[in-house]
Amino acid sequence: MVQELKYQSLIAACGMNCGLCIGYLRDKNPSGGCFKKDDLNKPGSCRNCVIVNCKALAKTTSGFCYECGKYPCSRLKRLNTRYRTKYGMSMLDNLNFITGKGMQSFLENEQSRWACENCGAGLSVHRPFCLECKAEVKK
Ligand SMILES: [Zn+2]
Repeated sequence: MVQELKYQSLIAACGMNCGLCIGYLRDKNPSGGCFKKDDLNKPGSCRNCVIVNCKALAKTTSGFCYECGKYPCSRLKRLNTRYRTKYGMSMLDNLNFITGKGMQSFLENEQSRWACENCGAGLSVHRPFCLECKAEVKK
């Protein structure tokens, strides 16, 4: 039996893993992730995101930015820089991992990369501590 991958279907076009988002992990009104089109629980910045609503993205068959002729565009690079600087995570690294080693391998890697060292719970990229046991996250 194939192990069920925790972050399956939570990887957004830009390379973001929605399973790491505090909007997805919060108890109250959790977001369904980028692919839940009309989900009002999605953070406003995600509902109005220029990347997921991009016309060029709509023409791709994979649904991922790496397939676009303008990849990586300035919008994606801006988002990537913000996440790299603020949260120590890179959308472009994620997409390169996916194109290089495949989605399955990426999801497995994410599962171990974002597991709390103390209790094993899934971590949020937006918080410096584990949401379950409050242990500090070392980066
Ligand atoms: Zn923990």
